[in-house]
Amino acid sequence: MVEESGRRKRPNILVTGTPGTGKTTTCTALAEATQLRHINVGDLVRDKNLHDGWDDELDCFVLNEDLVCDELEDQMEEGGNIVDYHGCDFFPERWFDCVVVLQTDNTVLYDRLSRRGYNESKLSNNIECEIFQVLLEEAKESYPEDRVIAMKSDTIEDINRNVSTLTDWVRNWHLTS
Ligand code: ADP
Ligand code: MN
Repeated sequence: MVEESGRRKRPNILVTGTPGTGKTTTCTALAEATQLRHINVGDLVRDKNLHDGWDDELDCFVLNEDLVCDELEDQMEEGGNIVDYHGCDFFPERWFDCVVVLQTDNTVLYDRLSRRGYNESKLSNNIECEIFQVLLEEAKESYPEDRVIAMKSDTIEDINRNVSTLTDWVRNWHLTS
């Protein structure tokens, strides 16, 4: 593992969390601060058709994991990426030097997702996902625990603090790896 990441000049970061926890907002700011490349996996799946059709029940594309991993492999090997997705168990473990799990208070998240126009079932699925810390568990099962970090994302101050912490981490990365 040390050898794998040692070949990269810049780190790869995965930012995950329940929809609405602020992944895209955080990644956009972090990419601007660090000049790392922001990869929004949801957009990529839609734009490059990396899916097996639409799931009416879940109201989203059925992501094709193999197509997504093939599409990203070269860039990930090169390093310097911030990957933005509400799932993390199908990416190769060796891709990421840091896995950030954003977490939001349930009532705050409920308001954000209602504003997004989510229907009742999508709303309750996502709130439940947050209550049971599904993404944190998934991250801990899929990556070494010392690479996984949970960060609170309730307010703009939280985002600013998280971005600044991660920017420092990126700047120091070559010293620690
Ligand atoms: P995700 O990419 O995880 O689905 P977004 O970054 O798109 O989440 O954020 C969803 C909405 O919630 C946006 O309108 C964003 O401005 C708002 N938001 C996200 N995180 C925060 C936060 N920590 N504080 C205040 N507003 C936030
Ligand atoms: Mn997003």
